[in-house]
Amino acid sequence: MVKDLIERTFIAVKHDGVQRGLVGEIIKRFEQRGLKLVAMKMVFPTEAIADKHYVLTPAFIEKLGENTRKAAASRGAEVKETNEEIATRVKNWNMKYLTEGPVVAMIWEGFHAIEVGRKIVGPAESKGAPIGTIRGDFSTESYGMADKLGRPLRNLVHASGNKEEADNEVALWFKPEEIFGWETNRWKVMHKY
Ligand code: ADP
Repeated sequence: MVKDLIERTFIAVKHDGVQRGLVGEIIKRFEQRGLKLVAMKMVFPTEAIADKHYVLTPAFIEKLGENTRKAAASRGAEVKETNEEIATRVKNWNMKYLTEGPVVAMIWEGFHAIEVGRKIVGPAESKGAPIGTIRGDFSTESYGMADKLGRPLRNLVHASGNKEEADNEVALWFKPEEIFGWETNRWKVMHKY
């Protein structure tokens, strides 16, 4: 059914994005793509929520390990840690980063919202992120500099990576009554839906 193509994705402007005054710019990019905002709030994340947000599933551990290794290889560096060690280190860094200041948490809904949300945000390493993506337009972070500085890539925004992550993150950050099921007439024109 066509309705199955409508997804919800969790997007958060991390506190560096808030500090830099990019909240409006970031929201604009989701709105202009045709997604529908169904929940939004400012939250000062606690350690507990940061811990649950960065769940070290086998898939996440592998992804972090692979991306970190690939980035190291491209600058001629060697990573001696196992994937688990990389994931634990990055998770600790991320927990610190997420709890440093208030974030703007949102749920966006629409056709292919998860994939489209990732495209709008761009890849984790801003240095190589395509121009036109949020990370590509507003930051220049790299894995190498993050390593040297002993902190995660400060890349402005979080976007759910897949359906499982999106479902978990929506449930973690929002109560059901904070999510609004309003109808958008825009979709009638955009999708004849
Ligand atoms: P994304 O944010 O694009 O979903 P990941 O899920 O791979 O990226 O990682 C989550 C976040 O963890 C990244 O946005 C980045 O801030 C941080 N991160 C991941 N790997 C590293 C690393 N090797 N060094 C520093 N920070 C990292």
